[in-house]
Amino acid sequence: MESEHLKVAVRIRPLLNIDNTRDVAVYTNEQNEVKVLDGEHYLTSNYDKVFQPESSQEQVFRFIEPALIKTLKGFNCTVFAYGQTGSGKTHTMFGGNWEENNPAPQVYYKDPQGRKSEISILKSLQGPGIIPNSITKLFADTETKQFTFYCSFIQIYNEHLYDLLHDARRDKSLRIRENKIYGIFVEGLAEFVTESAEDCFLLLAKGDKNRAVRQTRFNHHSSRSHTIFQMLVETDKANKRGVLKKAKLNFCDLAGSEKYDKENSMAMEHIKELKEINKSLSVLGKVIHALGSGNNSHIPYRDSKLTRLLQDSLGVNTRTILIATISPAAVYAEETISTLKFADRAKQIMVKIKKNEVSATNDQLITKLQREIQHLKTLLN
Ligand code: ADP
Ligand code: MG
Repeated sequence: MESEHLKVAVRIRPLLNIDNTRDVAVYTNEQNEVKVLDGEHYLTSNYDKVFQPESSQEQVFRFIEPALIKTLKGFNCTVFAYGQTGSGKTHTMFGGNWEENNPAPQVYYKDPQGRKSEISILKSLQGPGIIPNSITKLFADTETKQFTFYCSFIQIYNEHLYDLLHDARRDKSLRIRENKIYGIFVEGLAEFVTESAEDCFLLLAKGDKNRAVRQTRFNHHSSRSHTIFQMLVETDKANKRGVLKKAKLNFCDLAGSEKYDKENSMAMEHIKELKEINKSLSVLGKVIHALGSGNNSHIPYRDSKLTRLLQDSLGVNTRTILIATISPAAVYAEETISTLKFADRAKQIMVKIKKNEVSATNDQLITKLQREIQHLKTLLN
């Protein structure tokens, strides 16, 4: 059975010329199954959805659309892109056109079975990602006229939170607070009311510019930080019972999940960065896992800034979508397997649900058989 609360997808990006290789290690089929070969080891798993290298941005958007629509009904929704640097997270969340200095890459497309090999430039694969597509959808929907959207744009770097929309206080680390009225909130974070998709696009561009400035000034490479675009959706009119609906929509372009490579000598600060990232991603994995296991009393939200920030968006009455992005190249097979393992762990929510259902059915079966025995006994008497 599929879980409505958590959906896990895998997106395989095309082989690119920057990969400098034609050797692929990732195979898929129509059953949303992925197989990765790493020397003698292999991993096979299946997901709610597997996007092939030739899948379009539009197809990926359609996968998250039902959850997006749910925010208009008051459900919090969080979309994560998880994967190693260069696997397509930013492409998936923002889209090819959002990153400057990111010319359309040349794509080597190789059939997963390795039957044909051709080089082409797949321009159609570029275009807006999940965030701009969601914005367009939300504002195009006539229903949304009764809604107000507040947007903010956050960067988490080395367990510090920064406001990407506040030029003057760009470098000031912010605190996460909680109170009865607002729930979880970031103290002093800029929240812009947006009235059109264009307003939102301006904010995205502004945040992207601030991110680039921070990157140059402090050498905070964006691949080593989490970027979260948040939209707070509020109904303008109270319903018949006098209730205003509110929901949070979070889009997270996570920091690269690659492991610290001992062979590569690295500056101390970069080792620290990677350790912080690995820690916060592992907390995220634990939180998603704990929620799925139904043990709601020991969820380690407070163990990382990311999960603390998203605390009220990961749990009951929420929709979570994890998109694991992978490269098909054989040289990345080890990282790809580690990405899929993260996705598998998250996915166990579904396995658990399946198990519970099976035992419930068994109980029903036993009850039914007991009733039959009872019936037969009466017949014998
Ligand atoms: P990440 O954010 O995970 O580090 P990017 O999104 O920046 O990775 O992707 C790395 C490169 O691969 C970029 O040049 C991007 O345009 C390209 N790319 C990623 N995914 C795709 C895709 N599905 N189709 C075409 N190009 C892609
Ligand atoms: Mg990126």
